[in-house]
Formats: sequence, structure tokens, C-alpha cells
Amino acid sequence: MQINEHFANLHESYLFARVAERVREYEQEHNARAIRLSIGDVTRPLAPCVIRAMHGAVDDLSRAETFRGYGPDATSYAYDFLLSAIQNHYKKRGVALSFGEIFVSDGAKSDLGNLLDLFSVEKVLLPDPVYPAYADANLLAGHKIIYAEGREENGFLPMPEEGKGADLIYLCSPNNPTGAVYSHAQLKRWVEFAGRHGAILLFDAAYEAYVTGNFPRSVYEVEGARECAIEVSSFSKAAGFTGVRCGYTVIPNELVRGGVRLSSLWKRRQACKFNGVSYVTQRGAAAAYSEEGERECGEILAYYRENARILKEGMNGCRLFSTGGVHSPYLWVKCPYGTGEQFFELLLSRCGVAVTPGGGFGAGGERYFRLTAFSSREDTAEAVKRITELLT
Ligand code: PLP
Repeated sequence: MQINEHFANLHESYLFARVAERVREYEQEHNARAIRLSIGDVTRPLAPCVIRAMHGAVDDLSRAETFRGYGPDATSYAYDFLLSAIQNHYKKRGVALSFGEIFVSDGAKSDLGNLLDLFSVEKVLLPDPVYPAYADANLLAGHKIIYAEGREENGFLPMPEEGKGADLIYLCSPNNPTGAVYSHAQLKRWVEFAGRHGAILLFDAAYEAYVTGNFPRSVYEVEGARECAIEVSSFSKAAGFTGVRCGYTVIPNELVRGGVRLSSLWKRRQACKFNGVSYVTQRGAAAAYSEEGERECGEILAYYRENARILKEGMNGCRLFSTGGVHSPYLWVKCPYGTGEQFFELLLSRCGVAVTPGGGFGAGGERYFRLTAFSSREDTAEAVKRITELLT
């Protein structure tokens, strides 16, 4: 027996773990707390109606009459009340989904990797820069990876190029780390490209809640996407569920390959390797998508948006080029000199502020660093003040 030799292809340590380690070292050396504008984790508490729903669900579990065990297997362990809330969420943007097309999960990251079980893939196309978990999952599976370059010149929104196709194409909009968001017309070009080449789009909508104005929040807002796209979404950044864990994947009925509905395959796959998301979590997630939840979560998103605005204004004040921070909790900042790693070290050692070096998101990120709006207002303002003092 041999171990999976592809582990050797993974980067030595996952970027965020490496950054966290350096920050811990800094804190020990200086006996001080660093301001973390690095890791993409939320900090605000859950919305009150979510908390109430979860408390209520725990009470349900305490009584024999309302107790729940495994979720219903007809719907891959998702309860109708959550499927209905997700269905309604999509309906608001004119997208009709049936229950059988929605699969509730413990978060987007698991599904983005696990979906590879459905395919025998030779080549995948990933944006560069992008969320590193896509590359890691595909490296582990031994897939050949090619990249579509997101650069300043194309607004960090890579577009399809004839002759550069793949079996699977990952798209992330709004993008982590650049905050760039595709327009309907741009997404349509990807949908048409995938349709022409028989490719499947894996559309990561983890940040859709941050979109403002007339930009697509779901790939299914684009005609033709139901035949070629799987959408993966999450309550993590929309409702503060990074610790609670809940997400979902949408696989439309029209998505058929080799004469087989991919939703049927995924259902079978989930029955083999997954046993559902807890009842308490599903109640909380449904509450987050209720009218009250949308309003309360909207207030939390507004808090992060204001942090992003403060960061953006601060970077402008330092005359640093940045993108993102509008449809996204991330600001993607260009180093005035040197690399993102050097800036990470500079800002940590001189300001006690941790940022994420852009190179960890792909070759296109070498000369950038990422700031997140997920800190407290006080930390965000203090970090901007310190960076401004250093750079101006
Ligand atoms: N997709 C993107 C683009 C992300 O940035 C993240 C988390 O940072 C995830 C997916 C993972 O989300 P989840 O917490 O639902 O696993």
C-alpha cells in the first residue's frame, strides 16, 4: 500500500496557517496583540433571530415529541424548512430552484473539494489569484491545473480564452482575495464558453451577500447556466456561520453528463460519505434567510462594509492602489515596492498589523496584500492609523 503521492504537491503549509504562526511569534516576542487584518474569519456575533432559532431547536431536541435524529434522507438530510428558505432566497433574484436541486452541507469548502468525486477530470482551470483551497483539492486529486490570469489590466476578472479550456472551471465572484465581481455580460461569456466546450463551471458564491447594485449574485441569473454550472454557497460570511458551519450546493436538473443527472450522482455520493448538517444548525440557517434574518444579518454586513470603506479610504490616503472592498469584505492592495511577503513582514514588525501576503493566492498576487474588513471597528481604524503613520 502506498500513501497518496499527491500530498507531496501541496504547498508546505497552508498559507493562513503560515501567516498565523508568524503572527503568534510576533505576539510572543513583543508581548502584545497584533491587529489581524489577515484571516478571513468573521467576528460579529450571530443575528438575534438566528440565536433564538437555534435555542428553540435545542429545546425541540429536549422533548420526545419534537426530537429529531438524522435528517430526512430523501433530501440528503436537509429539512424542508431550510430548503424552502434557500429556495426563497433565490426566488428574490428570479432564480427558481426545486428542492431536489439544493444540497445542504457543512460549508462551501467541503463541497468545493468533495464535488471532485463526481468527475474523472484531466484538467481544471482556476483563476489566479484565488482562494487556495481549490488548488489544494485538485492537487490532492492529482489533476492538472491551468490558470486564468486576473490582473490589474482586466480588473482581476479573467475571461475565457479559446484554446485554454478544461473539464472544470472554478469561478469565484465576488472574488477572494481581489473583491472583483463579474457582471452579467462577463458571466454570460463564461457560461457560453463552458457550453461550447462541455465544461462545468463550479461557481463559488460564498460572498454573494456582499454584492450591491446590478451584479449577479448567482450564476443562474445568467441564461444557459443551468446546463453547465454548479453553484456552491455558504452561510459563513453572509450570516457569521464560520464556526456554526452550514452551506449548500445547487445542481440543476438540466446538468447532465454521460446521460446521468449530476444531482443524482451527488445525492448518491452524499449518502455514501455524509450524514447531514445538525438540526440546530439548519434551524439557525433558515432563520438567517428569513425576512428578519436578512434585516439583522444586513446590519452585520453593513458593519463590515463600513470597515471596508475605512480601509479603502486609508489606502487611498497612503496613495496605495487597491481594489475590492465594495462588493466584498476584502481589499486587495498593491505594494508600492517589494512583494506582499515583504509588506506582511513590514506591517507586522512596524505596525503590529497582520495582513495576508498576496502570493499565497497565486502567482498573480506576489506584489499585493489582502486586508479584511472582518475586524472590529476600533482595530480597523487603529490599523489604518498605524499604517498611515508608517507610509506617509
Ligand atoms: N469560498 C471562498 C471563496 C472562501 O473565501 C471561503 C472561506 O474563506 C470558503 C469558500 C469557505 O466557506 P465555508 O466556511 O462555507 O467552508
